[in-house]
Amino acid sequence: MSWDTVIGLEVHVQLATKTKIFSGASTAFGAEPNTQACAIDLAMPGTLPVLNKQAVHYAVMFGLAIDAEIGKESAFERKNYFYPDLPKGYQTTQLEKPIVGRGNVEIQLADGSTKTIRIHHAHLEEDAGKSLHEGDFRHGVSGIDLNRAGTPLIEIVSEPDMSSAEEAVAFAKKLHSIVTSIGICDGEMSQGSMRFDVNVSVKPRGSDILGTRTETKNLNSFKFMEEAIAREVERQIDLIEDGGTVVQETRLYNGETKTARSMRSKEEANDYRYFPCPDLLPVVVSDETIEELRRAMPELPDARQTRFVEQYALSEYDAGVLGADASMASYFETAAAASNNPKLAANWTTGELAARLNNEDLSIAKSPVSAEQLAGLIVRIADNSISGKMAKEVFDGIWSGEGSADEIIEKRGLKQVSDSGALEQMVAEVLTANPAMVDDYINSDEAKRKKKLGGFMGQIMKASKGQANPQQVNQILAKKLNELL
Ligand code: ADP
Ligand code: MG
Repeated sequence: MSWDTVIGLEVHVQLATKTKIFSGASTAFGAEPNTQACAIDLAMPGTLPVLNKQAVHYAVMFGLAIDAEIGKESAFERKNYFYPDLPKGYQTTQLEKPIVGRGNVEIQLADGSTKTIRIHHAHLEEDAGKSLHEGDFRHGVSGIDLNRAGTPLIEIVSEPDMSSAEEAVAFAKKLHSIVTSIGICDGEMSQGSMRFDVNVSVKPRGSDILGTRTETKNLNSFKFMEEAIAREVERQIDLIEDGGTVVQETRLYNGETKTARSMRSKEEANDYRYFPCPDLLPVVVSDETIEELRRAMPELPDARQTRFVEQYALSEYDAGVLGADASMASYFETAAAASNNPKLAANWTTGELAARLNNEDLSIAKSPVSAEQLAGLIVRIADNSISGKMAKEVFDGIWSGEGSADEIIEKRGLKQVSDSGALEQMVAEVLTANPAMVDDYINSDEAKRKKKLGGFMGQIMKASKGQANPQQVNQILAKKLNELL
């Protein structure tokens, strides 16, 4: 029997506001535990929340980016539950009246086709704190860090429109690209700025009836997400084929140990006894505000990709890679402008630079090679001061902080020899040292001579330690040999 996979995503996106959603406490990452949660974040008696306008604007911007209906009057509710990282005893969130309604996100697949993933809605809510565990459950300690409590989030809920791990990852990457491009999220996945819950079910191929789903929570890397889906699909198929049934439950996937386990059976919305938050008024967004935000919207990734193809004559592929990531795109544009060479800037940004960053697990914002430094290198490649091979060496030098391309070329004496007098001398020496090769050349027919030229080239490049300008050597060599004919 063959099976269809059905996937729907719930995505938590941390909004890049300076302060919490209902208080003035800082949202900065990495502070000492429990130094950034204030009485309002913990709902101490006598406190009242005040909604952060910037968080509302960011949520509306997301709605505009995916062409969604904007909830002009949305409302906050209390979702009641106990958890050590939630001292309030409830999470302030939205249920019946979310700020963003139905919308669409288009994804591109490896075969070049596109697919539309429908968004059910996106709502505003606060994040909880974080439990941290050390040691095992007998001898260990658990601590609670409430710094994250009250950080503004939007939760984006998709329809179950994806039918493979590839599509789910493409969708997740597209959301990452959108929220970072419009500047509402810093996109730092390793710091939890985006977390993905994947709902997965299987059904007999072609069937109209959806199977029972499980939800795997809190995946914070695209790789883990792909692995978690693949394993869950396999587990469900094995289970059903062995005569069992899938139980609706919440699961956890551990990316380090590559194992998944059940966390709890699925709860229903009514278990949480949602009710409208009496502390907060309905959120009204005026048409003027929506229009203002629409006018000020930064460029979206699809538009940027099209512009890169037109403005810089990049391939669709390069434009896709560079256009998807806002910081990568701006790095590329800076390097292209400073070197006046978009083609080489694209090659180096998507090639050597991306590979090195990836290897060392660095985001482009942390790149040891700045866009201006890369441009300096590109200028020297383009004017033939250095060969492609030496360019890599110079790049390594810039990466490890030895200075600009020009400084490194100078210091290490890497400059390509383009002085024709010196090159004539080199060619003459190689010809004198290899009389048999010269005779062989003279006695060959025209077609063979072309190939034999390569032999001399190799010798000369070796003699110059790779520093001779190959185009010039080629010309001089051809001229000198022809004089002997
Ligand atoms: P609940 O209200 O129980 O959380 P929702 O209908 O809101 O359930 O769906 C939650 C998520 O699960 C959505 O992203 C949705 O697309 C996805 N989903 C719903 N049914 C299925 C299914 N049968 N298989 C896979 N995903 C599903
Ligand atoms: Mg839900």
